[in-house]
Amino acid sequence: MNKFWSDMVKRTQPYEPGEQLNDPHIIKLNTNENPYEPSPSVKKAIVDEMDGGLQLYPSPTADMLRSAIATAKDVSMEEVFVGNGSDEVLAFSFMAFFQPGKTIRFPSITYSFYPVYSKLFDIPFEQMPLKEDFTIDVESFFDSEGGVILPNPNAPTSIYEELATIEQIIEKNPHTVVIIDEAYIDFAGPSAIELIRKYDNLLVIQTTSKSRSLAGMRVGYAIGNSNLIDALVRLKDSFNSYTVDRLAMAAATAAFEDKAYLQKTVSKIKETREWTVTELERLGFDVLPSSANFVFAVHRSVKAIDLYEYLKEEKILVRHFNIPLIDNYLRISIGTDEQMNVLLNKISSYLMS
Ligand SMILES: *Cc1c(COP(=O)(O)O)cnc(C)c1O
Repeated sequence: MNKFWSDMVKRTQPYEPGEQLNDPHIIKLNTNENPYEPSPSVKKAIVDEMDGGLQLYPSPTADMLRSAIATAKDVSMEEVFVGNGSDEVLAFSFMAFFQPGKTIRFPSITYSFYPVYSKLFDIPFEQMPLKEDFTIDVESFFDSEGGVILPNPNAPTSIYEELATIEQIIEKNPHTVVIIDEAYIDFAGPSAIELIRKYDNLLVIQTTSKSRSLAGMRVGYAIGNSNLIDALVRLKDSFNSYTVDRLAMAAATAAFEDKAYLQKTVSKIKETREWTVTELERLGFDVLPSSANFVFAVHRSVKAIDLYEYLKEEKILVRHFNIPLIDNYLRISIGTDEQMNVLLNKISSYLMS
């Protein structure tokens, strides 16, 4: 530790993202990226934007993008906030709605960025144990002191909780904000967005990184009551007026306008997911019921860490977490049919050796 570090730096414990190796031959199934390129209209929008004045700052209010999101999600622009990836939107939301001295709650097994933000912003947290089947214990989230955050579908479990379950949590926390992180919602069931006019304490956060294939452009967004959105805007404008750059804004706007492409790629990924699960089960895995673009699987006899190491040697990256209760699981992103076939064949050879 350096004597020049602030307390904030000292107490923080940075998030460790999945490996990004610069080897084009690697099959990357470790960070839940989309295996398909973004809509062709995205590339065109970026090229057009490059001719459109990169010497100028982007719009600080991102009206064009917010309007495209509002249209796609059937809400008003005043109910939309955009940021540099949903991770940034999550960070602003922790700052805006949670605070030191008031304990927030999130599931014991969940997105590992939540404890990172909590420590950074000095927010106490309680990790509510999941049930044996990895679903949430809904009542454990009632009457929180400082607020609730949970992903739906949850990561890395891939399990989707019905909207009625989510609604109970929102309803039973009328005095604090409930954040639903819907990074994977397009692969699952209905979104909580339909509840934002009913509950002023609900903030829904989504991203273009997974279903819209734009992880490289960093565009995330929050949808909620305009009072909540105003709080996020105030923070953003006290920090960096231009969090979303021109190319990202053009790309994401085009992606929201191409609904057909979203539907096509999402259904393809779901189809690949279904047969991959069948094959994994045939190879001796138990796979949690997935509503995301990844699966969470445990083998009945082989250790996850051994399989992880073997696959890495074979140039296939999957995600392994050294965390109690899930350290024998692998999180495997759904790639193309071809990639999943290579994976399954490698696993099969490993099991026979
Ligand atoms: C991938 C992911 C995010 C982050 O998405 P970005 O928009 O790329 O920052 C947020 N929450 C969960 C649960 C995720 O899995």
